[in-house]
Amino acid sequence: MSYLIVGSGFWGATIAERIATVMKQPVTIIDKRDHIGGNCHSSLDEETGIECHRYGSHIFHTSIPQVWEYLSRFCEFTSYRHKVLITHGGKVYAMPINLFTINAFYGKNFTPSGAEAFLAAEIARDRIEQPANLEEKAVSLIGRPLYEAFIRNYTRKQWERDPKKLPSAIISRLPFRTCYNMDYFNDTWQGVPRDGYFTLFKNMLAHPNITVRLNCDYASIRSEIPSDATVIYTGMPDELFGYKYGELEWRSLRFEWETHDVRDFQGTTVMNYADPDVPWTRIHEFKHYHPERTAPFNGGKTVICREYPATWSRGEEACYPVNDERNTALYARYAAEAAQTPGLILGGRLGAYRYWDMDKAVADALHVFETRILPMSATL
Ligand SMILES: Cc1cc2nc3c(=O)[nH]c(=O)nc-3n(C[C@H](O)[C@H](O)[C@H](O)COP(=O)(O)OP(=O)(O)OC[C@H]3O[C@@H](n4cnc5c(N)ncnc54)[C@H](O)[C@@H]3O)c2cc1C
Repeated sequence: MSYLIVGSGFWGATIAERIATVMKQPVTIIDKRDHIGGNCHSSLDEETGIECHRYGSHIFHTSIPQVWEYLSRFCEFTSYRHKVLITHGGKVYAMPINLFTINAFYGKNFTPSGAEAFLAAEIARDRIEQPANLEEKAVSLIGRPLYEAFIRNYTRKQWERDPKKLPSAIISRLPFRTCYNMDYFNDTWQGVPRDGYFTLFKNMLAHPNITVRLNCDYASIRSEIPSDATVIYTGMPDELFGYKYGELEWRSLRFEWETHDVRDFQGTTVMNYADPDVPWTRIHEFKHYHPERTAPFNGGKTVICREYPATWSRGEEACYPVNDERNTALYARYAAEAAQTPGLILGGRLGAYRYWDMDKAVADALHVFETRILPMSATL
């Protein structure tokens, strides 16, 4: 029996590490890219020495003890806690909406209970009982003025659609607080790997039972795979099955990279842009993830990247699944076919057609290993 893992992101790397360490079996992991780590990959910018997250900012956060304990075997996390700012009308506010945002926006000095009462009155003005779309849902949660300033145009840019034409189900809740807590995430553990995501993945895949092959697309080696091999596939299911039932839809992102001759471009890791006249949704400035790396942090240059939402087409980065009725039904057909294909296990965010934060991808991989892969060793 041999194991082939397609895709070296968190899901595939976790499975590879577990097969090598727990089952003590040889395992090959391939990736069509020229690096391991999937979308969480980071690398040092040659000119500035700044570590850049190549597929957009990745902040690790979790409240799952098993995932925290597992990944802590391969890296030390810093104490970085994510804060997000947003520019609207030429002024900077804090996100998610909190008491700083509310007081700055309305020019008030509310206490928490004062802000709650004020927002309840704002919400009541629109009298929305059954929100029929994303706009109505958001207004029913935070009131129209805050929605129009911070949510409407940002959402329109993100989805390239009017929020009135988006289903209300996209937001079950809008994170907002009537206290001064500015943390973006509420999780117990947060940080970024002290020595970078590239080192974390290198450590996960360092076991001598693991062979890594890069620049290797599954399609190009499919015919060489022994018939008794188990293929653990973390790519797109529609591609795997030749698009026989149709193509799954995704949203994509485009990144524009710039190096500036300034020590500090924007004073923070992520600045969102709420207004329609600015075409990008966010600017990332990577040196702020590692203030402890004093040489690149204090150097006279900085690397930024502007993020633009984009319509996805084949060959582009698939970032966010479009989990509407059509795609959900289509995915179910591919998943059913995968389940009936001997020696095939479909997984990862692409294979599951789900948005997962990193910790959820690792938690799912650990679960699939325990419940589907480890039991195979009993039959060896
Ligand atoms: C813009 C953005 C920002 C994010 N920020 C955060 C964050 O701050 N915090 C957080 O917790 N999560 C974040 N995430 C989520 C995070 O990226 C995912 O949880 C993680 O990438 C899931 O890992 P994975 O292994 O399932 O998939 P991936 O990382 O996508 O890995 C899949 C791998 O499979 C390879 N592959 C696919 N098909 C083939 C093939 N046919 N042959 C060979 N190789 C193939 C791909 O090249 C890829 O390397 C973010 C996601 C996006 C889109």
